[in-house]
Order: sequence, then C-alpha cells, then structure tokens
Amino acid sequence: MIALEYPDLLEALLPAESAGNTFAVADPATGEILGRVTNNDVAAARAAIQSASAAQPAWAAHPALARGRILRRLAELLLQHQNDLALILTREQGKPLSEARGEIAFAASFFEWFAEEGRRAYGEVIPAPQGDKRLLTIRQAAGVAAAITPWNFPVSMLARKAAAALAAGCAMVIKPAEQTPLSALALARLARNAGLPDGLLPVITADRDNTPAIGEEFCRNPAVRVLSFTGSTRVGRQLIAQSADSVKRLALELGGNAPFIVFGDADLDAAVAGALVSKFRNAGQTCVCANRILVHESIFDTFAEKFVAAAARLKVGNGLDAGVEQGPLIDARALEKVQALVDDAIDKGARLLLGGKPHALGRTFYEPTVLTDVTPAMRVFQEEIFGPVAPLIRFSSETEAAELANATEAGLAAYFYSRDAQRIFRFAEVLQYGMVGINSAMISLPEAPFGGIRQSGLGREGARLGLEEYLDVKYLCIGQDQ
Ligand code: NAP
Repeated sequence: MIALEYPDLLEALLPAESAGNTFAVADPATGEILGRVTNNDVAAARAAIQSASAAQPAWAAHPALARGRILRRLAELLLQHQNDLALILTREQGKPLSEARGEIAFAASFFEWFAEEGRRAYGEVIPAPQGDKRLLTIRQAAGVAAAITPWNFPVSMLARKAAAALAAGCAMVIKPAEQTPLSALALARLARNAGLPDGLLPVITADRDNTPAIGEEFCRNPAVRVLSFTGSTRVGRQLIAQSADSVKRLALELGGNAPFIVFGDADLDAAVAGALVSKFRNAGQTCVCANRILVHESIFDTFAEKFVAAAARLKVGNGLDAGVEQGPLIDARALEKVQALVDDAIDKGARLLLGGKPHALGRTFYEPTVLTDVTPAMRVFQEEIFGPVAPLIRFSSETEAAELANATEAGLAAYFYSRDAQRIFRFAEVLQYGMVGINSAMISLPEAPFGGIRQSGLGREGARLGLEEYLDVKYLCIGQDQ
C-alpha cells in the first residue's frame, strides 16, 4: 500500500488480495502489487456516459466565472496534495519523485490556465453584406467528451484534456491507462473536493483486455461528441476508423520521433544539457523526447564525448530514492522492445558508446545508452524508442539535416541548437513538425499549443486553441428576408 497524508486520495484502491472484477496495479521498480482497482466493462462506460449527459447541461449553464472558480480550486488542491500525488505517481509509474512533483505542478497549471481561458470563449459579430441582416457567432460547449490517457504522464495528460473540457462546459469521461489508474482516481477525488458536481468527471478504470471495447463505445456512442486520445499512432488510427459512423470530433496526440539537431555554431554545453534532459527524462518514455540526435560533423566528436560523459553520470534507481535521475521502464514488454531496437541497430552497423543492456538493478531498469554510426535503415531511426537510448547521427550540411529530420511519418516535436539568427527562422520553417524547440529542450507550457502534424495527430492541447476542441461554433443570422 502507499502511505499518504490524505488517504482518501486512494479510496478506490482495493487490497491486493481482493477478488472479483478487479485488476492489479504494480510498482514497476519493485514489482510490488500496490492494490487492485475495478475492472470496468462496456456497460460501466455506457452508464458513465449517460450520467455525464445528464449532468453536463447544468454545468454548461453555470457561468464561466463560476466554473473557473472550481477549476482554480482544483489547481490549488493539486498543489496542496503535491507530495501525496507525486508519491502515487512514482509508485505506479516509476519516474523519479522530483519529476513526479514537477508533473503535478504542470497538471495544476492547466486547471489554472483554463479556469481563466473558459471566460474567453468569445463569439464574433460579422459585418453583414446587406443592411437588413445581423450576423454573429456564439461558442457553446460541445457536450460530453471522452478521454483515453497514457501511462507516461498520467496526471498532466489527463489535466490538459479535462481542464479544457470542463472550462468549456463539457463533461469528460476518462479511461486511464491500465498501468496508472491511481493517479487518475486521485485527481478525480480532488475534483470532487473542489466542488465539481457529480457525473462530470467519471474515471472508468479497465485492464488492457477490457479497454478496446470501452474505446469502441467511446467512438460509437452518439452522446460522446468529442474524443480526446493521447497514445500510440497505431491506436489513434483505430479510433479514427471506429469514429467514422458517429462522425466524432477527434483530438489526437499520437506518437513522435523527434529529431534533436545540433549545428556547428551551437552553444555546445547548452546543447549537451538539452539533449540529456530531452532524452533521459522519464527514462526516455516521452512522446516529445529526442529520438534521433543529429550533430554537425565539425563538432560531432566533442559533442559525443561530452554527451556520453554526462549520460554515464545519470543515477539509475528506484524513483523514490534521493538523487535518482532515471527510474525503471514501465514494464517487461517495454524493456524487450528497447533491447530489440538496440540489437537491430548493432546488427546493422551501429556502435555502442555507452550502455546497451538491462541495468544491473534488474527488473525493468535499463542502462542509459548511446549509439553512434546510426543510419536511417535502423529501427531506432524509424521508430519511437520510448526508452533511454540516444542514437547519434552525423550530418554535413543544413540541407542534409533537414532531410534526415523530416524522414519520418511523425510530426510532433523537433529541436535544434544554433546561434545563427538567419538559420533559426529558415530552419524552423523547413521542419515538418507541430512544435519546434530552438535552443530549448523543454517546450511544454499551458500557454502554448501542444500537438503534432502528419501522423502525430489532430488538434492542439493547452493554449487558447485547446479550448476550441470542446466548443461548437454556432452562427446566428438575424434579419428579414422580405
Ligand atoms: P497506447 O497503447 O496507445 O495506450 C494509450 C492509451 O490507449 C491507454 O489508456 C490504453 O489503455 C489505451 N488503448 C490501448 N488500446 C486501445 C484500443 N484498442 N482502444 C482504445 N484505447 C486503447 O500507447 P502506449 O504505448 O501505452 O503509450 C505511449 C504512446 O503514447 C507513445 O506512442 C507516445 O508517443 C504517445 N504519447 C503521445 C503524447 C502526445 O501528446 N502526442 C503524449 C504522451 C504519449 P490500456 O493501458 O488499458 O491498454
């Protein structure tokens, strides 16, 4: 069990020995079963959608200011319970406690942002082409939304969706990832404490066997007007196909394959520090993390030396232990995939500069790994690695860097380091990505639009645009036709 200052946050967690319709939640660092939660089925999802449909009109009728007060209160409660929430997050997900605390603060920032932004769901007055008409638009809550969230950022991904949906006047039915249901349940509990009316934020926990049917219900149920998903491109495609009959509005944050490009004129130490945090944060299990590190040939060897030295110093261990910078991978399947990608690269001619195998700590711990002589033929170049493996690739010109960077179907985040002002705009425009970090590896902020292009998804989260996903535009034409 998890010892909390405020145990009610885990009121839904059942003892490990519970029988019945439940599934186990484990600590990836130790394998300990933390407890069990309800394994919901389609009927439960349908009932939650129905209750959300009943509760949503009254919520939408609440003035935006009143909705915002509840959301702001929720932000305050998240911060007030930051220690407990971070502990839950580290225990079920594995990330270091300092990163978990950061994620709780990041989650709170979305409720704070959208508490205000909901008050700015402005309509427009449109100049009419004829004197006897008045044209205007209003923006109204879309209705019930559903969200499917991943395990890598189980609190902030949920917050980024729910804060926008609730601010717009929608209800949101949540299906968290199998591995991390506790963080979602704790957040929902705090939402209730903040004064959110019943039925508006139900959490439908389910294991991976029950999930596909629940996902299909979200897609096909006509009462769900918006489906917001963060996860793999593979599942995202499936949700698009399943949503065709109900013509659902989809907001999809899918996989990435971020290039991290270091030009010869870059501040080398800043680039090394940026690449390190981008690559190894959350043990590399981040959709926007550096997946391919492209370095100009003039500085390649120096960069590689500094980067390897810094990666070798990373402290790997249980996220609860002081000073740990890299926790375990989420599960054994993740470890197998990472090893398979490293083996494929080595088979095809890559060389290991660091790591390359499971960590001596065992279980799902993996060594911080750096590969060189990586080519586009290797899986580490083509696929999202989702592990602490940094492939280094040498380039000789800006044109070649752009070609390599864009040689993927993904289009989520890209990064480059350069001190050449001309190049900064020129190169940013050439990159086929939804987000570009320039001399910056940490780009996610509630004020900024997060999202991808190409196969990385549809729509944006956060920022002013994040609210739009949950609003319908209604055009009013007032006049006399005769
Ligand atoms: P995943 O398999 O797609 O799982 C994500 C969520 O989808 C989980 O809640 C999962 O539930 C659910 N799911 C799985 N199969 C489903 C189905 N057939 N129908 C409906 N829901 C289904 O992704 P993952 O590999 O665990 O997570 C990592 C992926 O998420 C990476 O590709 C990463 O890039 C992406 N991601 C993207 C962003 C972004 O903002 N673009 C942010 C974070 C992560 P179960 O756990 O119960 O199977």
